[in-house]
Amino acid sequence: MRMVEIENGFVGAEAFDTKVRQVLRSGISGTRSCAVAMMTLHPWWIADDWLSSKSIARYRTAISRRISALLLEADAATVTDAGEWAILLTNIADNDEATDVAERITSIVAEPVEVGGELGYPLVSTGVAVATGVHRTAGDLIADARAAMSQAVENGAGQIAVFDEGLRLDFLHRCRMMTNIGPGSSLANLDLHFQPIIDIASGEVAAVEALLRWPGQRAFGSAAQIISLAEQTNLIGRLGDWVQRTACAHAQLWARHGVVTHINVSPLQLMRGDLVSNLLSSIESANLEPSSIAVEITESTAMEPLAIANIAAIKDAGVRIALDDFGTGYANLASLRALPFDIVKLDRSIVTGTTADSPARAMLEGIVAMSHALGLKVVAEGVETREELRVVTETGCDLGQGFLIERPSTELGIRRLLDPTQKDAIA
Ligand code: C2E
Ligand code: MG
Ligand code: MG
Repeated sequence: MRMVEIENGFVGAEAFDTKVRQVLRSGISGTRSCAVAMMTLHPWWIADDWLSSKSIARYRTAISRRISALLLEADAATVTDAGEWAILLTNIADNDEATDVAERITSIVAEPVEVGGELGYPLVSTGVAVATGVHRTAGDLIADARAAMSQAVENGAGQIAVFDEGLRLDFLHRCRMMTNIGPGSSLANLDLHFQPIIDIASGEVAAVEALLRWPGQRAFGSAAQIISLAEQTNLIGRLGDWVQRTACAHAQLWARHGVVTHINVSPLQLMRGDLVSNLLSSIESANLEPSSIAVEITESTAMEPLAIANIAAIKDAGVRIALDDFGTGYANLASLRALPFDIVKLDRSIVTGTTADSPARAMLEGIVAMSHALGLKVVAEGVETREELRVVTETGCDLGQGFLIERPSTELGIRRLLDPTQKDAIA
């Protein structure tokens, strides 16, 4: 417990637990209950190289002051070892009321704060759990509020999530994922699968995309979920490094067949100061030409200067840059010109449902023409039907990827695909 928190009217973790326990014992009667809200700075704020630790500490102090000013006499708040704020809200009737209170606290906390002479906008995510009969200990209620907070983080900065049974299951899934990527794990359970990207004109495999896999994934969600969890828990640096090293090691063989290996890099990874050196070191250790690797990035709201500098350095080193999932989220036509892309990957949502005479086809044609005018190669992602393959071929997409063409497969599967003569030798 840091002094500044105590000064702000906060209590230590033990006193907080005791207070929650007391309220749980006495307070859940009639129509009134209590709730715990857990609040955290959004991972963007804690990412390496983003803010100095001194600035973060000052934002934290400002946030603590705002929270303590909002506390009612009967409420209590603490700061956990992980730097999250835990707030006990007494006299809460239900989820709606808890949400209202959490929204009020979150919006006040998010008001601009002056740090180092500049105005900053704290991005926080808040989870709330209202006590019910199942919460026997303070730990139960705090754990549920924390689960809701993780959901809020996933939903985006400034979001509030309320705990429910669905979240309890999600939380168990997350715990399971954490056993594979947590600080104590060796990452040995993880695997990469590779999905071929074919040259539409020749039908040859031009590239493969590395996709993260882990045990239990089928039952417990997609690669995107484990990446998002790694981002929230600040484990993304280590995980991304593992992906890059493993993909480059396999890429050595693919490169001999003229096949480029695509590696996904999330927006938060792009904000890391060690991204470029780690990536280039993986490429060098595998004795690869940088041009046999392509980095796939997705656009987020606004590219921070560090992300832009990283992209430029990767490009300067000779690695190709692909804009992934074009047509979703924030990606727009102007973004194609703004950064030094070599490849644009059209999201499945653009490709899905394109039929010969639909407006979707006209849109596809326009995007392909403009991408070509900018000198970009166009990959159609998520090609699932013959009709879609026909349309992406007719509209001039250069490359295709999707379940119709090839599903992601193990490294061995790709080896067999590239060199069928190896089939028996390897089997
Ligand atoms: P993405 O980069 O857009 O990857 C393509 C995703 O679409 C993959 O899902 C792939 O299995 C799926 N897919 C391919 N063809 C089809 C199709 O025809 N139909 C449908 N419905 N889906 C298709 P996956 O492996 O679950 O990955 C999801 C996302 O997770 C990826 O989207 C990427 O953003 C992220 N991801 C995966 N591996 C990594 C990684 O190593 N690092 C990072 N940063 N992100 C990763
Ligand atoms: Mg991708
Ligand atoms: Mg994609």
